[in-house]
Amino acid sequence: MAERRLSHAYMLIGPEGPARDEAARRLSAALLCPAAEPPCGVCRDCRKVLSGVHPDVIAIGRQEGDKGLHREILVDQIRAAAADAAVAPNEAARKVYVIAQADRMNAQAQNALLKVLEDPPGHACFILCAASAGALLPTVRSRCVRAADTGDMGAGAAGTELPELVRGYLEAAASGDTAELTMFCMLRMKLDREDTEGFAAGVKAAVCDMLCGRRPDMGLGRERLFRMAALMDKTEDYLRHNVSPKQIFGVLAVETLR
Ligand SMILES: [Zn+2]
Repeated sequence: MAERRLSHAYMLIGPEGPARDEAARRLSAALLCPAAEPPCGVCRDCRKVLSGVHPDVIAIGRQEGDKGLHREILVDQIRAAAADAAVAPNEAARKVYVIAQADRMNAQAQNALLKVLEDPPGHACFILCAASAGALLPTVRSRCVRAADTGDMGAGAAGTELPELVRGYLEAAASGDTAELTMFCMLRMKLDREDTEGFAAGVKAAVCDMLCGRRPDMGLGRERLFRMAALMDKTEDYLRHNVSPKQIFGVLAVETLR
C-alpha cells in the first residue's frame, strides 16, 4: 500500500450529536481505507469502521464510576491509550483513537495527550471531537489539523442527479416492495452487457456516497447498503464470467430485498 502523508491528530469541532459522531466515523474510515480516494465506503476496513466494529478504531470516552459517568476523561485513560498506541495495529495500517468528548479531558489528561502528540508512534492517529476548540489547551490545538466543522460536512455529492437506471433500482429497493423490484428487473433483462456494467458501477458509486454521508440514503440503511455493494461486486463478477444481463437481473430481482 502506498503511504499517504497523514497528520497524527485531527480536531472535529461541532455540537455533540449524531452528525459529529458520523464525521468521526468517516474520518476514521478515511484514515484506514487503503483505496486511492478514501473512504471508499465499501472495502473491508471501511465497512468495519462504519459499522463500529473495527479493532483498530479505539473509542476513548468518560468512564463509568461508582456514582455514574465520570465528569471528565481521566489521565489514566490517556496513559492507557498511549501504551496501546505503541503496539502495532491488528488489521489496518494504522490505529485511530477517537476521543468523542475531548473537551471533557482535564488539564492533566490533555498534558498526557500532548506528550503522545509530540512524539506519536508512526501508526497512531488521534481524532479529538469537541464542541469548541477553545476547550482544548493551545499546545494541544497547535498539534492538531482542524477538519471541516461537522456542520459543514456531508453536503458533497448530494446535489448531483443519479443516472435514471441507478435511481430506479435504488428507489425500487428502498420501497421494500418485491413486486415493484421484480417489475423493475424484468424490464431491464434486455439491457446489453455494457449498460449492465455501467449500471453496476453507478449503483456502487451511489451506495458509496450514501455510506460516506455524501448523499441521502433514501432510507436504505447501512446494512442494506453493504449488501447492495456486495451484490454489485457479484454482478461485475458475473459479467466477467459471461453471465447474461437477463440472468443477472433475475438474480437481482430475488436477492436485492433478501
Ligand atoms: Zn475503503
